[in-house]
Amino acid sequence: MQRHNIEEMSVFPIINLRPAVTEFLKSVFLNTEVLAAVGHQEAECRFQKLLSCLSHPPSYTCVRASTHLAPLEEIRHKLGEELKKQQMCSSSADEEISVQILTHPTIPDVLLLPVDGPRPVKQLSSEVVVGAQCGSAVLRGAHVFAPGIIASPKYMKAGDVVSIFSDLEGKCTRGATSFQGKKVFVGNGVAQMDRSAIFCADEPAKGIGVRMVEPLYQSPSFDGVLPSLAFLQNLPSVVVGHVLGPRPGERILDMCAAPGGKTCHIAALMEDQGEVVALERIRNKIDRIRQNAQMLHLRSIKAFCFNSTQAVSCDPVQESEGPPFPPESFDRVLLDAPCSGLGQRPNMSSTWSLKEICSYPPLQRKLFHAAVRLLKKGGVLVYSTCTVTLAENEELVAWALNTFPCLTLQPQEPHIGAEGMLGAGLSPEQLRLLQRFSPELSWDQTGAAAPLPCRADRDTIGFFIAKFLKN
Ligand code: SAM
Repeated sequence: MQRHNIEEMSVFPIINLRPAVTEFLKSVFLNTEVLAAVGHQEAECRFQKLLSCLSHPPSYTCVRASTHLAPLEEIRHKLGEELKKQQMCSSSADEEISVQILTHPTIPDVLLLPVDGPRPVKQLSSEVVVGAQCGSAVLRGAHVFAPGIIASPKYMKAGDVVSIFSDLEGKCTRGATSFQGKKVFVGNGVAQMDRSAIFCADEPAKGIGVRMVEPLYQSPSFDGVLPSLAFLQNLPSVVVGHVLGPRPGERILDMCAAPGGKTCHIAALMEDQGEVVALERIRNKIDRIRQNAQMLHLRSIKAFCFNSTQAVSCDPVQESEGPPFPPESFDRVLLDAPCSGLGQRPNMSSTWSLKEICSYPPLQRKLFHAAVRLLKKGGVLVYSTCTVTLAENEELVAWALNTFPCLTLQPQEPHIGAEGMLGAGLSPEQLRLLQRFSPELSWDQTGAAAPLPCRADRDTIGFFIAKFLKN
């Protein structure tokens, strides 16, 4: 397996952000508390590493195993067999097939598959341009699905070998035959359909448009692989379920639930006994929660389309199956908040304005108010985001501790990420209780990658978790 190093990473661009957003992030990572603790040079270096890490995929694919349905070793074995079959179909007869699947040293339902990259792949003259979201999916092992294709060579036929480029700024015109704007090479593949089937058919094209044969980052495609036993989920998201610590028979609220990865994990940890209420404001995302629950054979999940800021009933005694709920209805509450998402990887480009990024804390505070009211006394509240700003993470925690004297921070189990970041006025003890996944810290002072398995714990998406007890 090839591992990233700083030189290899530099062949790939750092995340493309609006200048005002880069300046804002820099002010967060070089705040006065950080500067006083580590000095200007180290703080600047960490910030640059963060920008670089964000545009690359993590060096592992994380799979959550359905240990409520089968033992971990059995799932690992079956997954190995399935992925071998997949590789045999796409490689030549004399190539040796090996699939490495590691268990995690402390998390009992996690399997890790090393990602090989960036690999030296030669660019071809035939170019297919895909949207940034599709490009990011390719970097994490997906094939190119037809709806993601924006431009292709004029005479592209099924069977042609093409290079795939990701359109960084969303400026390529649909149906174009070439594109000179900002784009990044993500690998080579074989077209599965003619250009006319993609752009000129009466119905929008579906299915795989280009099958990747030489991706820049090699990791297995999980499309249809053991759907009920192997669920693709980022490592910090799996940690959230364990930190919440649900027990069989409890009543749990997941306030911002779609597509339901954490909802399903909570139900699985409860052995599907009890009730997991999943709320989601956007109606067409509810089906994804239900589909995931069905695929993982989980019956304790009840999903509702509802705005969670209004989930507390005015009538404190009215019992109901669906929202709104009387105060103190739940044993545990997960607030996996809508956020600026700046920790997502790979993210080669974001067109978000500073105003959009700064719009989240007021919504997060509203949701937090509802979460505290809906939680029983003695209950656990977990707050999480997939972003790296202070305002949505440590500052939100500082605000919560000031606003709700009934809340205390709790230790987290497992705690495999770093502690909270300086800059929000929290004490060292409070920071130690927080869990911040900071991919930029997966590089040591010399620029070398940390050894296994610590790297898998640090080389994740940017993520934040806080755990509270309501007294
Ligand atoms: N917990 C999910 C998982 O692990 O699959 C991911 C949740 S995502 C970070 C946040 C979700 O909150 C989005 O699907 C968004 O539509 C939803 N959302 C945003 N505002 C909401 C609100 N006021 N009430 C309920 N859901 C909301």
